[in-house]
Amino acid sequence: MQFNRKTIDKGKGEVIIIDMSEKILLNENGMKIILLGNEAIVRGALESGVGFASTFPGTPTSEIGDTFAKVANKVGIYFEYSTNEKVALEGAAGAALSGVRSTVSFKQYGLNVSSESAFPLAYVGVRAGMVIVVADDPSCWSSAQSEQDSRYYARLGHIPMLEPANSQECKDFTKIAFDLSEKFNLPVFLRLTTRVSHTRGVVTLGRIVKGRTKGKFLKDSIKFRNFPPYIIETHKELHRKLEAIRRISEEIEINFFVNEDVKNDLGIIASGVSFNYVMDALDHLKMNLPVFKLGLTYPIPEEKIRNFIKNLKSILVVEEIEPILEKSINSLAKDVNPELRVFGRSGYLPTAGELTEEAILLTISKITGKKLDYDLIAHKEDYNKLKIARRFPLMCPGCPHRATFFATKSATGEDTTFIGDIGCYILGIFPPFETQDIIFSMGASEGLIHGIKKVSDQKVIAFIGDGTFFHAGIPALINTVFNKSNPLIIILDNRTTAMTGHQPNPTVGVTGMGDQTKAIAIEDIVKACGVENVKVVDSFNVKEMEKTVGEFLQNDKVSVIVAKRECQLLAVRRKRREGKAIPKFNIDKSRCNGCGICLYQLGCPAISVENGVFDINEDLCTGCAVCVRICPKRAIKVVR
Ligand code: SF4
Ligand code: SF4
Repeated sequence: MQFNRKTIDKGKGEVIIIDMSEKILLNENGMKIILLGNEAIVRGALESGVGFASTFPGTPTSEIGDTFAKVANKVGIYFEYSTNEKVALEGAAGAALSGVRSTVSFKQYGLNVSSESAFPLAYVGVRAGMVIVVADDPSCWSSAQSEQDSRYYARLGHIPMLEPANSQECKDFTKIAFDLSEKFNLPVFLRLTTRVSHTRGVVTLGRIVKGRTKGKFLKDSIKFRNFPPYIIETHKELHRKLEAIRRISEEIEINFFVNEDVKNDLGIIASGVSFNYVMDALDHLKMNLPVFKLGLTYPIPEEKIRNFIKNLKSILVVEEIEPILEKSINSLAKDVNPELRVFGRSGYLPTAGELTEEAILLTISKITGKKLDYDLIAHKEDYNKLKIARRFPLMCPGCPHRATFFATKSATGEDTTFIGDIGCYILGIFPPFETQDIIFSMGASEGLIHGIKKVSDQKVIAFIGDGTFFHAGIPALINTVFNKSNPLIIILDNRTTAMTGHQPNPTVGVTGMGDQTKAIAIEDIVKACGVENVKVVDSFNVKEMEKTVGEFLQNDKVSVIVAKRECQLLAVRRKRREGKAIPKFNIDKSRCNGCGICLYQLGCPAISVENGVFDINEDLCTGCAVCVRICPKRAIKVVR
């Protein structure tokens, strides 16, 4: 393969810069490159001969799908952005059942969505390797909703789980997961957390393997008919497989000891990114303690753990997020060392939120009495005294959601309740709009508004984005029609899945591999669901939106407004590509009366006020002209 390499000589040797999609495809065995954890997963899959990859974009895993999207055509494999995680998992299962290695990736809540199919899949099994990549988000850096620990799913679904700690392990564990999956005909979980997904590290490359991309589903009248009486036998078989994998976990090299020969009353067991924090903490404390690092975390190597803990006085278990390993170790200790003190996330380490190296450092220091060379607590107090300005996350200048929220607020009173959903419009939670009185889960806005309308006469409006509507909004909309409900639902159609990085969705007419496909109009789906009151309104047409919201709120049947306007980030990029001018606006100070509507009610970040004088930052202005439409004094003018 020929690569488009740019070589820069900075006088200190050559720096080679290549495109990321080319970097991921380098086929030079033993070469070291820097990869994001998520990119390394893709590389691991390519080195495993994957033939089918699918995803529903969700941070912290979004870059897995986006990387597959960049390379799929080049390596001749299939990739798709599916309409939701359940469909994504089922597609990958279909490929694996047909003998093609497959992988599916999603964030933690995606696993909830897909679990209805993931659990029976473990019962029926797969023919080729199938890896389910799920990323949890301790402290919810990229998610709302909950601090879910997906490791419970491994136990619930009888599905083995591996947890890498860095980019190299992301690649290597993916390969191990494929092999394990194929050996036992079971899907295998690869569980990441945000720090593993989003940290870059050096990865030593292996060879890319060209796997099968075509296969055949072979009927099996016993195996695939997942109902009684066969299901009882399959369940027993599943337990036999897990016991065989547990025996492997006793020997597998990804479960390993550090400082094994060190004699101490305290030992540590760690998994995933927590292991890195432990090693850093020991370094800072200048201590050597025996550490058992788990890479295959379900099923756990019970014999090895029993041997490790039997002569200890105490053990510290360091894990994200819930005390799952800690509880297992507590129960193993009952057999071999009932006096063992088990420290962990049941109270010693923080019980919620992401772990930090500092928390682990202070915990080890407290248990062992070993002091640091410096005063970490004083240092933290100094840090907390710093006056770092806190800012709310904002919708972009020219965001069509801003215009829709402005118009909706203008058309309704303080007595209106707004039901939110998942997407960048979640930012409507903040002032000046506050149009997300409750946020639940993907597509939940429609179910929630239906229930509220059934039991109250409140004025309620639900907002749901286009990707979210396709993900889970369609059945809920049908439910409102079927059950004679009368909510007003505003579907925010910005022609992309914006929040996770502008992945295409079914409105766009392009697949994840860049092929043209049928663009599906949301209003057609809404009508097909039986909704009679449907109107498409340009999000930037504030007057028409205000009027439509006012009218539709009076309807006694379910009503839908499709607020349609391309994401402004994409619009600006497209115009630049096409050589079109982006208009810039400014405020005519002689006309402006300082009412503040453009700043305090529309909240465009390009508009500011200083000493009572309102102004527009032309560098930030994206030329949407919404402020022009709402200014009562017609003070805002195009300047170029
Ligand atoms: S809305 Fe118009 S009149 Fe009011 S502050 Fe802004 S520019 Fe001035
Ligand atoms: S300043 Fe006005 S035209 Fe510019 S982005 Fe903001 S609302 Fe749009």
